[in-house]
Order: sequence, then C-alpha cells, then structure tokens
Amino acid sequence: MSSPKASLPFYLFLAACLVVWLQVVDVDASSTPRIKALIVDGQNNHSWTTTSPILKRILEDSGLFTVDVATSPARGMDMSRFRPRFGRYQVVVSNYNGDPWPEEARRDFVDFVSAGGGFVVVHAADNAFSDWPEYNEIIGLGGWGGRDERWGPYLRFREGKIVRDETPGSAGTHGSPHAFPIQIWQEHPITAGFPKAWMHGRDELYARLRGPARNLTILATASADSGEREPVLFVVQYKKGRVFHTTLGHGPEAMGSPDFVSTLQRGAEWAATGAVSQPASKDVSSLGTGLPDLLRTALDRPRIGKREVAAIAALALGVNSVSIIVLVVVLLLWRRLSAVERTLLHGPSARISQGESGERPLEPRTGRLSA
Ligand SMILES: [Zn+2]
Repeated sequence: MSSPKASLPFYLFLAACLVVWLQVVDVDASSTPRIKALIVDGQNNHSWTTTSPILKRILEDSGLFTVDVATSPARGMDMSRFRPRFGRYQVVVSNYNGDPWPEEARRDFVDFVSAGGGFVVVHAADNAFSDWPEYNEIIGLGGWGGRDERWGPYLRFREGKIVRDETPGSAGTHGSPHAFPIQIWQEHPITAGFPKAWMHGRDELYARLRGPARNLTILATASADSGEREPVLFVVQYKKGRVFHTTLGHGPEAMGSPDFVSTLQRGAEWAATGAVSQPASKDVSSLGTGLPDLLRTALDRPRIGKREVAAIAALALGVNSVSIIVLVVVLLLWRRLSAVERTLLHGPSARISQGESGERPLEPRTGRLSA
C-alpha cells in the first residue's frame, strides 16, 4: 500500500494537467476566431435547397468557419429588398444562378470584393449575371446566359502555354456527368500537397467557358470530350479581393468527392485570408489515376461513334457474335482511354500568353439555364 505522502506527486501532476488543459481550451476558444462565411442562394437551375446545406457542412467541418446563408426571394418574385450584408463576412460563397440582384446589392457586392473580401464561385454560379460586367470580371470565366466572344476569350492550352482564343462562339457546354481525372496545372496553396493528377467523382465537366479572364491563375484542368483541356479550378484577383472559382459541384454526388470537399475548404480559407492552414487531405491523395481508375472512367461513359458503328457493321457480315462483342469493348475502351491519356500526358506549365489558335467552329449555343 502506498502512503498519502507517496501519492502527493501524482495529485500535483493531475492538477498541473488540468491547468494546462484549461489554458489550451481557453486559448483555442479565444485566440482563433472563426472565419465568417456567407453562402448566397435562393435561385438556381440546380437544387440549391439540397446543395447549400452540403456546402455549409463542408465549410463547418473544417472547424475554420462560421457560416450564414442569405436566401433570395424565389425566381420572378420581388427582389428589391434582397440586400445581403456582405461587409459582415470575410468570404462569400455563391450557390446562386437566377434573377438580377437589385442595384444596391450589386454595388455592395462589388465594394466588398474590391476592398479585399473573398469570393467563392461554385459551378452554376458562373452562369449567373451575364449582363453584369463587374461580376464577369470577378468570376473570370462564365458560361451560358447569352455569353459569346463579346464577353472575352476561351482559354486554350497549347504547347505548355495558356492561349487566349478569341474565336467567335457561344460560351458554356458540358456532357453528361461522369468521373474524370483532374490534373494540376500550376502549384497554389489551395492544391498544395495534392497529387499531380487525381480522379474526381461523377460530375459535369464544364467546357468552353469564356470571359475577361484578367488576373486569372489556373490551378487545375480536365480534358473534355472535345479533347480540349478545360480549366476546372482557378483563382482571380479583383482589385484587393481574392476569388476562388470551381466549375465542379453539379450536385450532392460531385460535392461528396474528397477533392471537391478539400478544395472548397481550402479555397474559401484562401479567399478569406490569403493563406491556407489546412493540410492536404489524405482522402485526395488516395484518389488514384492508376489503370483501375482509368478503366473505371472508360466504362463510366461509353460512347459509340460512326467509326465504331461502321466497324461493327462490317464485322457483323462475316464474323461470329463473340468477336463482335470483343471488338465493341475494345473500341469503347480505346476511345475513352485515349482521352484520359491525353489528360495525364500534358506537362504542367504556367502563364497566360496572348494569341489565337484558330479553333474549329463551336457547337450551336445551348440554352440559357441548361448548365
Ligand atoms: Zn450542373
């Protein structure tokens, strides 16, 4: 049995631990105020009632943000009293694609970003407000809403450089949702520690966006069906304000992809503070681009073109059904794999250069709110 004297150091140790713990708790609560974030929603051609709570939870899960939501009146209703208090926040996250905001709200928003407020553009938020020049400057690139060459160039990737392509044509298109590889173009705090390429979950891949694209830095790209690399993550400096623009996040499935989660958390922190304190997510590092992932991508979205149909028809005249099935599978995989391969083989580089590249004619304009 130990005597009361012998146990005294133990009690002193416990008391010391308690004091240290209380100090840590106190310091944690008092010296690291959270970043104030505001999500704006209320109208969107996507289900904002579903996705805004997801965006809110993602931000809150980082432990860095307190998040409020400003919801506008419904489409077609009186907007005149919608005036979010942007100035109370460090970063605004837009999940909005709908009717124009009233003049006062637009002025407040431009003042907020100009003075150094952070802004995060999520997916269809870059379809919004095509006739608002400052908004187009702030988002850098946008799609739909009647946008065309008058709004600015496409950004194209040629021989390791970004080229401003002024070819006339509409802005904004995408195929059906599918998983696709994303590749780093330029190092940035938002993607620091990420692999050079990773698989993004099933999502829409926006293509052929265009806009002023001034003070714009592309972080990551993905190859669209056209074979063109498309910017999917980029940042814009607008006066003193930092803007993080992700074209990703069509719906809950896409927003569940670990890279979407991590880039939203880090992008919002960067937009608010100019730095990223969150370590790179291990979940993103585990999003591979090995052969199984490439096969998954290939099988995710098989497409049959004229070439495939012709080959199948020719073979059907003289060969048995097993051969035909094998040929079809090989053709489908080849088609997807070659696109994926192109994505992964382009070497990273930086810098936007001026010039034209003579794009082929664009597809007919798609509908205003079809994104
Ligand atoms: Zn979408």
